[in-house]
Amino acid sequence: MAGFREECGVVGVVGDKEAANLIYLSLYALQHRGQEAAGIVTLNKEGSFSGHKAFGLVGDGFNKDILDKLEGKVGIGHNRYSTAGGKMVQNIQPFSFNTAIGSLAIAHNGNLTNASQLRKDLEKSGSIFQSTSDTEIFMHLLARSNEESILERIIEVMKVVKGAYSLLLLTKDRLFALRDPFGFRPLVLGRRGEAVVVVSETCALDLIDAEFEREIAPGEVVEIHNDGSVKSYFPVESSRKAFCSFEPIYFARPDSQIFNEEIYELRKKMGAILARESHVDADVVIAVPDSGVPMALGYGNQTGLPMELGLVRNHYVGRTFIEPSQSIRDFGVKLKLNPVMSCLKDKRVIVVDDSLVRGTTSVKILRMIRQAGAREIHMRLGSPPITHSCYFGVDTPERSQLLAAQRDVEEMRDFIGADSLGFLSIEGLKEALGAANSHNYCYGCFNGDYPEDTGREIEPQPTDDRGPGLRSGI
Ligand code: SF4
Repeated sequence: MAGFREECGVVGVVGDKEAANLIYLSLYALQHRGQEAAGIVTLNKEGSFSGHKAFGLVGDGFNKDILDKLEGKVGIGHNRYSTAGGKMVQNIQPFSFNTAIGSLAIAHNGNLTNASQLRKDLEKSGSIFQSTSDTEIFMHLLARSNEESILERIIEVMKVVKGAYSLLLLTKDRLFALRDPFGFRPLVLGRRGEAVVVVSETCALDLIDAEFEREIAPGEVVEIHNDGSVKSYFPVESSRKAFCSFEPIYFARPDSQIFNEEIYELRKKMGAILARESHVDADVVIAVPDSGVPMALGYGNQTGLPMELGLVRNHYVGRTFIEPSQSIRDFGVKLKLNPVMSCLKDKRVIVVDDSLVRGTTSVKILRMIRQAGAREIHMRLGSPPITHSCYFGVDTPERSQLLAAQRDVEEMRDFIGADSLGFLSIEGLKEALGAANSHNYCYGCFNGDYPEDTGREIEPQPTDDRGPGLRSGI
């Protein structure tokens, strides 16, 4: 139940006459990566793009009539959660443009760290931007390049942009799938019969009965022709990999396989290590659903304690419920979660969640558990304390609002109202990710050690002033 917000999900299909429907279904599977808006662009027989974009969930923005109009065997789709740029219709992807080298459509998951400088430079030399999204920078750079071929233009742009991008670029006769040299965000390649499919996570391949083929590697460009032939290029050096460690902790679906890991198994391992590092005597383990569930299972297995469904989640809460004019305490959290009294009454309860961001949701959850009769509450987090913001495609609060950037563990325990508080250590997280692989991850939001220049000054730590977020309990 992290307060971090994902990013985006992308889908590309080449060579299936049901392309629009397959993209639509895949976007459903990737809905957790972005709920603000969704869009699909397909390439029709005449060689031009058809598209539809809408605010809201995939199921709200598309219907049969719309999908029927999205003809063609090739297309791309995008689920958006805005990390860069505001909430405006122009920012809904895929973007499509007409350029001197033909029509292009683009769908991007990530964040460019040098976007503001690039944008300033482009504007100074005459570019007019339609959106506030950093993704549009790709388009301008591609359109203005003097290179002959689209592939050479892509390579030139990859040498200029910095930050995180798992990106799909559709042309009249090819789909390109690109991943930044650090590989922050996942991108996987699959096959569905003769068709080639590219998606953010394997759970989308499962839904459309596509076979997982492989991950697109950091720094790789995959060129998929409309006839289904695939070529691969590695045009930019990758000094190191930096997979986002928050993907396996929270963002990715537990039934996905990304970064060559089974996410469900990885989360159980994190829970088991968390138990080894910080267990206290208790009667029962419960999870904050949904993301804390595999970690709580791992915790329970490690300690031999029973795991109970102490909190039940209402899965039907839309994003559009109307707040009552009279303020009702904890209304938002109560709408989503309800405690099961028989699991909690008179028990010493270990509550496992994936992470602690501002801490304000935990305050409300723990208060509910206490009101349900728990005798003791021991909060355990399956990730290290989050002390820094992310600049690589994840919407994080400023440092002044990150609880762990402002308080030590004892102060955090007091703030959330727990009897004890424990976090998975960075060493424990690395152990879960495996000795052979852990150096391939980014841990920037846990230790401030970012794999590349973030393009921003690191915010100074407040001293006496603990920051507006904490004082006001936002
Ligand atoms: Fe992921 Fe944190 Fe690195 Fe951002 S800073 S890419 S959220 S690990």
